[in-house]
Amino acid sequence: MSSDTVSSETPTGETFEESNSRDDAESVLATAKRQLERAAAHLDIDPNTIERLRHPAQVHQVTVPLRRDDGSVEMFTGYRAQHNGVRGPYKGGLRYHPEVTAEESVGLAMLMTWKCAVMDLPFGGAKGGVVVDPKSLSTEETERLTRRFAQELRSVVGPNHDIPAPDLGTDAQTMAWFMDAYSMQEGETTPGVVTGKPPLIGGSHGREEAPGRSVALVTREACEYYEIDLGSATVAVQGFGSVGATAAKLLDEWGATIVAVSDVNGAAYDESGLDVQSIPSHDVEPEAVTKSAPETIPNGELLTLDVDVLIPAAVGNVLTEANASEVGAELIVEGANGPTTSDADETFVERGIPVIPDVLANAGGVTVSYFEWLQDINRRAWSLERVNRELEAEMMAAWTDVRAVFDDRDVTWREAAYVVALSRLADAHRFRGHWP
Ligand code: GLU
Repeated sequence: MSSDTVSSETPTGETFEESNSRDDAESVLATAKRQLERAAAHLDIDPNTIERLRHPAQVHQVTVPLRRDDGSVEMFTGYRAQHNGVRGPYKGGLRYHPEVTAEESVGLAMLMTWKCAVMDLPFGGAKGGVVVDPKSLSTEETERLTRRFAQELRSVVGPNHDIPAPDLGTDAQTMAWFMDAYSMQEGETTPGVVTGKPPLIGGSHGREEAPGRSVALVTREACEYYEIDLGSATVAVQGFGSVGATAAKLLDEWGATIVAVSDVNGAAYDESGLDVQSIPSHDVEPEAVTKSAPETIPNGELLTLDVDVLIPAAVGNVLTEANASEVGAELIVEGANGPTTSDADETFVERGIPVIPDVLANAGGVTVSYFEWLQDINRRAWSLERVNRELEAEMMAAWTDVRAVFDDRDVTWREAAYVVALSRLADAHRFRGHWP
């Protein structure tokens, strides 16, 4: 790793050819590009626009020096990929994870472009992060890393330019440090530079639960569509972080039977239903899932359980060619970003298992981020009731738009969501043109 501290940018428009970076699984970028091509085949869109959308606008790479608690200084690499800004400022999370790469950031930034367009939010897509295992850092080290990362990204983020948010390994506290570092350097408090902050300093009520809440809302609608009675539905949830835990708890409240939930150590399983309300989520007590379980099963087995609904809500690329034929669920709702590879998607089409895509299902996160940004700009907080009411309205509007395409054409749910997103992006590109 380089020992200098100068930010460097990769050339604009770099191709970022996909590689198989994670064992046998295809990369998030490869999946994102394949999904784009499949959806484009269903639309009469200017091929120049599709070509434009295959490339990120910019990818920034920075070196972040961190003074460790023992006094030594270690270098970390950070990225921010900005995919497409035709509909508004770039928007998307920052993750702290050992497997963060430029390529993954580009793939996930693409997903954010589709997600914001499906939800009809005035944002484009971005994603970034630091290549680090957050568990290897003390709280003080995480703060110093975050503040320096914010400083390195200062010239490429901003409330009207690019607005980061929490993602894997980051949370409201991370966003608070980021916002403070940015504000200190700018000389004015700028809450709108990031979303997902604690409500006391410009965060929105309901933001933390929002992705899980949208997963639960979309699951409810999808169950109704497929005539699965939620009151007797069985559900398996992979991941018990903010998304998985919120979705599991809401669906449990609405009458579903949650038979399995998991974290990195494995899954808690009970055929007759777990008491999910009493299992502490990852942010309250990390890795508590298997401790509280009468029976545990390996994480991989959770994905193949014979249930009505499977919700992968942990990391990407978990449903692959290797296990897609074993999946026993009637319906899959994606809580994580990119949990299904395109090969697995094909298997699910052949097997008639509908997959409600991430860009719709977990879009509550970025939707409430948008509400947060509006509150920051207007210096006026909304009540939790208002946030949840408006979130439900936005989710139902997006669900209705996607369902209309799904009913109208011979497409998957993912293709239907992409058709909605791509139509909006293509219209914006058509009006704005490809400058110069
Ligand atoms: N990281 C979240 C996502 O992947 C939220 C992004 C945001 O709020 O900007 O959707």
